[in-house]
This record gives sequence, C-alpha cells and structure tokens, in this order.
Amino acid sequence: MPDDQSKTEAPWRWPEERWRGIVNKVRAGRSLKPKEWPGGAKVAVALSFDSDHESSTLRFGESSPGKLSQGEYGSRVGIRRIRETLERNDIKASFFVPAVVAELHPEEQKAVVDDGHEVGIHGWIHEFNSDLTEIEERDIMMRAADVLERTSGKRPVGMRTPSWDFTPYTLKICREMELLYDSSLMADDEPYELLEDGEPTGLVELPVEWIKDDAPYMSMDRRGTARPHTSPFDVLDIFKAEFDGAYTERGLCLITMHPHVIGHRSRMRILDGLIDHIKGHDGVWFGTHEEVARYCLKMRELGRAA
Ligand SMILES: [Zn+2]
Repeated sequence: MPDDQSKTEAPWRWPEERWRGIVNKVRAGRSLKPKEWPGGAKVAVALSFDSDHESSTLRFGESSPGKLSQGEYGSRVGIRRIRETLERNDIKASFFVPAVVAELHPEEQKAVVDDGHEVGIHGWIHEFNSDLTEIEERDIMMRAADVLERTSGKRPVGMRTPSWDFTPYTLKICREMELLYDSSLMADDEPYELLEDGEPTGLVELPVEWIKDDAPYMSMDRRGTARPHTSPFDVLDIFKAEFDGAYTERGLCLITMHPHVIGHRSRMRILDGLIDHIKGHDGVWFGTHEEVARYCLKMRELGRAA
C-alpha cells in the first residue's frame, strides 16, 4: 500500500493486513542484551554527541548568521570542552555528524577519530528523512558515508537518522550499506535486533529516547515555542536516574547530547556530573556505539545473550 493512500484513507477503515503490515515493516526483534558486559562489567555506558552545529539552521533552508552562530558554537567551543572532558576521564564516545557539518569542519572529524572516538552517519544537512523519496534517502545516506570516510579517515559503520526520523525505507538502505547498527529507534532500553517485514536482519538497534537527550530540555527557538524549560541540575538528575536504572538492570545506558547545547559552561556540569556519578560505581564499561553493537552480536553468537 503506497504511503499516500495509507495517509488519506481513514485508519479505522483499514483492513488488518494494512495496519499489521505498517507495524511489521520495521520492528524490534530479539533482545541483544548480553548476560554480562566486557570484563564482567555490570553496566554499559554509551555516550553520543550529535554534532549538528550549523546544520540545525541550514536544514530549514535558513541563512541567518545569528542562528548559524548558535550552531557554530558547537564546533568552536562545545566540541573542545567535550573532547577535553572525555580525555580527562578516558572515555571513548560516538559522534554523529551530518555530511555538511563534516565538510564545514573536516579537521574536527579527524581530531575526534584521532582521539579514539567513533564518527557515525547523521544525514546530509540534517534533513527530515520523511520529506525524501526512497531514492533521495538512499543517495544521501551513501554520499554522507563517503564524506565521513574522507573527512574522518574512517568508514562509518553506524547511523543515527537526523531527528530520529526513520522512514519505512531507512532499514532497507542500512542493510544495502551493510551497516552494523542504527541508533534512532525507541522500542527498548536494551540493544535489540531489527526485524524487517518480520524477518531478522542482523542489524543492531541501540535505542534512544527524547528523555535521554539534552536538546528537548534546553533548546531555544526565538519565534517558535521551544524554550529551555529544565535547569541543568534537573537534566543531570534525569540522566543519573537513567544510569541508575541501567545499573540495577545490568543493561545499557545510552545518552544523547549536542555540542551546541551541552557545551555551554553552565551545562557542562551535566556531563561532568554524570560522569562523576557513573564513575562512583564499580563494574562500569564505557564503549562507543560500534563497540557496544559488536559486543552484543558476539555474545549472541556465543549464546550469551540474556
Ligand atoms: Zn542531530
């Protein structure tokens, strides 16, 4: 059933095959939560930084230097502070970077990879995938991977859709590109295998959620309704609670941050405070998204999935 027909026909008139087909297009399969994390660790922590920078303005076709500068801060200041904090704590993280941002700041991507971090796909100009045709989405994903490989020196193995806008075609394209994982969906706290039309794909999902993301709490749009509505202390409390839950359940704690959001002086205390809190526990393993995905697949092959 073409999308446009699904959208125009009232859902309460849909036959079962239609709603079932829509739900089954991309769905969570078996859990890939391992019985234990590397070195016998009790919890895995995967920190992601989405380096949206100027693309958060360009994506809307806007050209205001004022707005662009808010994103530029992410590259000029935020990335530096984040890299310093990660280095001081000996933590490797994952940075998801739109291709246009990588072209604007190639030295930044190289430096991030040289630090031992991962760079992953994050669209072309932070477009909404739902606005694209399947052909455009495939073309953009493939070109974005090439740009990241050229600028960072390493071929990306994972993907995060901009704004977590995952279309019915995204998984198919990830499979064509033989990616290892996606990190855009929300069906669990723990890693899981993605199903396409009910079939296991071997592709790992490292799930996200808006509540585990700095941007919704602290973003600002002068003409829109977005206003920072949560204090850095409260955001830190939420992130700590997410970690505490993962620790209790011996699972994965995945937090998403943005250099132009978290990189400010008053907000770096969220990242610093979170890392301090996490490091106050024993049995913690920090991994990049790639490392988490590879480890989960390996443990499943060994029959050691939880
Ligand atoms: Zn983003």
